[in-house]
Order: sequence, then C-alpha cells, then structure tokens
Amino acid sequence: MSTKKFILTERDIPTAWYNIVADMTNKPLPMMDPKTKQPVTEESLQQIFAKELVKQELNTTDAWIEIPEPVRDLYKIWRPTPLVRATGLEKALDTPAHIYFKNESVSPVGSHKLNSALAQAYYCKQDGCTNITTETGAGQWGAALSMASKIFGLELAVYMVKVSYHQKPYRRSIMQTFGAQVIASPSMSTKAGRKILTDTPNNQGSLGCAISEAVELAMQTPNCKYTLGSVFNWVNLHQTVIGLEAEKQMEMAGEYPDSIIACFGGGSNFSGIAFPFLRHKLTDGKDVEVIAAEPASCPKLSKGRFQYDFGDEAGYTPLIPMYTLGHKFMPSNIHAGGLRFHGAGSIVSQLQKNGLMRAEDVNQLEAFDAATLFAKSEGIIPAPESSHAIAVAIRKALKAKEEGRKEVILFNLSGHGLIDMAAYDSYIAGDLTVGGVSDEDIARNLKSVEEFRI
Ligand SMILES: *Cc1c(COP(=O)(O)O)cnc(C)c1O
Repeated sequence: MSTKKFILTERDIPTAWYNIVADMTNKPLPMMDPKTKQPVTEESLQQIFAKELVKQELNTTDAWIEIPEPVRDLYKIWRPTPLVRATGLEKALDTPAHIYFKNESVSPVGSHKLNSALAQAYYCKQDGCTNITTETGAGQWGAALSMASKIFGLELAVYMVKVSYHQKPYRRSIMQTFGAQVIASPSMSTKAGRKILTDTPNNQGSLGCAISEAVELAMQTPNCKYTLGSVFNWVNLHQTVIGLEAEKQMEMAGEYPDSIIACFGGGSNFSGIAFPFLRHKLTDGKDVEVIAAEPASCPKLSKGRFQYDFGDEAGYTPLIPMYTLGHKFMPSNIHAGGLRFHGAGSIVSQLQKNGLMRAEDVNQLEAFDAATLFAKSEGIIPAPESSHAIAVAIRKALKAKEEGRKEVILFNLSGHGLIDMAAYDSYIAGDLTVGGVSDEDIARNLKSVEEFRI
C-alpha cells in the first residue's frame, strides 16, 4: 500500500477552469442544427441549457474561466484531492515505472462528477430554474447532481439507464436520499421512451436513450433546464480542476508525467486530468502521451468514425462533430455503466483527429483483473469505469519493465467501486463476460448515420 501522498491546501484549489479550445490551433467544428444544417445559435441552445453553460460551450477565446466563489467554496468539502504514488502497485508489478494516481474517489458521492454537478446546479439556479432533469448511466452523475440540486434548492428528475437501475440499486437509493426523483429508462413517461419500448419491449436502455427522455421532459416543463454529466465542452471545462491540481502535485513530487491515462465514457474525467497537461503540449511543445481507456464493448475513439452525429438516441440534441459508433448503438451490458456512450464530444474528437492523443480499448475481464490487483496493492476498490484506466496504466508499466526503462505514468482514479460490489461478485464467481462488439455491428450502426458524414 502507498503512503506517498502529495497534499495541497484549500488555497491551492484553482480559481479558474482551463478552456483548452482557446489554445487549440485546429478548433472543433461547430455543433449543427439538424433541421437547418447551420451552426447552432446561442439562443437555440439556451432553450434547453442554462445561459452561462451555453456561453462556456461556445467560448473559443478565453483560456481561463473564473470559478464562481460559491462553487469554489463548495469544492472545499473534499478538494484538493490527493495525488498518490502507487508504490504498492509498482511493487506488485515489479516495474521500474513510477505510477501516480489522482484520487477523485474521495468526493462525498465517490466520483469526479461532483466537480461539474455543483457548477451546473449553480448556473441553473442563477438562470431562474426551479427544476432540472438529467440522465445517468451507473448512477454516478445522478448521485452527484442529486447532492448539488439539494444544495441549491432545485427539484431534480433523473432518467437512469434500466440495466443500471437494476444492477446498481444503491445509487438509486443515494439519489432518492438526496430527494431526487429517479425513473428507469426507457420509460413510458416520454414519447422517446414509449417509442423504444413499443419497438423493443425488453430494451435495457442506453445513455443515448436516457438523454432523449431527460431532454424531452425539460422541454415540456416550465422553469426547467436539462443538464448532463459528460460530453459537452462545459463539463470538460469544470473537470479541469483535476488536472490543474495534479500539475502542482506532480511538481511537488519532482516529476513530470510521460503518459497520462483516464477512462473514457463521454470524456469528462479524461479531459479533466489531461487538458491542463495538454496545454503544455499545445503551447510549449512539451512531450506527453495522452491515452483514453475505452471499454472494448463501446470503442468509439478506437473503432468509431469522425463525423456529425446526435448525442442521444431520439435525435433531440444538436449534431455534434465527434467520433461515434452511431447514436442508435446499444453497447452490451457491461458493469462500467458510465462508459456506455456512443460518442466522444467535439474537443476530444478534434484532439484525437490531430494526433494529440490516442485511445486503447480494454475488455471487461482485463478491467476487473486490473481492479482486483489495484485493490490488493493499494487498498482502494476502484469503480469498474476507473478500472479501464488502471488496466492501461498496468500495460504501460509492464511495457516499461520489458524494455527496462523508467516511465512516469499518471492516471485518474475517477471513482471508487464500493457501490459496485455486485459487479465484483460476478467477477469472483467467474460469471463476467469479456464484452466486446464485432466489426460487423459497428459497420451496421455507422451505416445508419451515413447522412451526417463529413
Ligand atoms: C461517469 C463516470 C465515468 C465516465 O464518464 P466520463 O465523462 O468519461 O468521465 C468514469 N468514471 C466514473 C467513476 C464515472 O462515474
């Protein structure tokens, strides 16, 4: 187990988020209105989203965006989070690599999601909302937003992907404890949900479908906005507190990472840890390898196509320029529910297209092998999502060992898995499937979004 921690004080909590778009030479393409095929306007986005969030989404010029004092003050509940040198894991692997992880699992809800949930609830309140809606996969985002909504006095309705609603009942309980209303998706409460359920009655849901339901409810409810926990630029922006703190902590450790790794659902924790370091690559040409760890069953960055596509199953969102598997893609029911999203967001997609980062995919068994080794050597049970990052960090550390060289590896521990023990149970019982998707399935799904090719 590790005792080498790098601890900051409250004064070190960043005062501004980092907006990487301002420093990108090739900026992401604009989101498109599916009807007019023209770039979306601020006004049209503001019908669904809080004003200030829309401003952040479209801001391509300011590298630093001030964190509102009430939000920064709430960050003090658990931030700054520790950076830990994983000496236990290094020893278990017998590797010359130095492995560091940023521990975002110490937040009250157990994941990085609270970094953006507090900001989004704050801006919705500022905007005059009384109600907000959202979707959640494994329940991590829903849990974070439930807490944030309670703090800012907002009523929250959460569409939770049906498979997770049953796999992770305690996340539902957490949301309900904070006073949120939780609905299993697909549901009969929306047009989008009813359509899916009549076409496929046993549908177990997907993030894309839950997003459609949450957007629909927001559009039909007065003083109500829709929020989401990943993919959009403002979410990535809010998560940069992770990397900004880690930058200082790596300095305390006297090292600079050769590689930075994070698991990838819609890209928020990945962006959070990576963007502040990518800033050095963009502005000073600093050499750092950045890797997104995807599940083999939902490999949008490694096997998807860069094109326009909807963020949701029903097609309510604007068209987003991104790597996608097609918005009707239904990933297999892996336990890393937070990684079951078909697309990748526009900033990350542009960065990958320009070769500034890359992706590796990890199957479910390798992820749990890595999770178990990490738990045994570091004493922390990681979230199934985070385990994908650990698996790639282990691959890297073993490669360094094989080649007999030192490498400094930094990964983000996006959350703990204490509410995911049913997943560990099936791993221990030998019941976990490898997970994955065939090339034919991917090709078939991509065919259905041909019309949006660039
Ligand atoms: C939601 C979640 C993820 C995936 O979402 P990103 O936006 O890609 O970060 C990863 N890890 C945990 C613990 C999560 O809750």
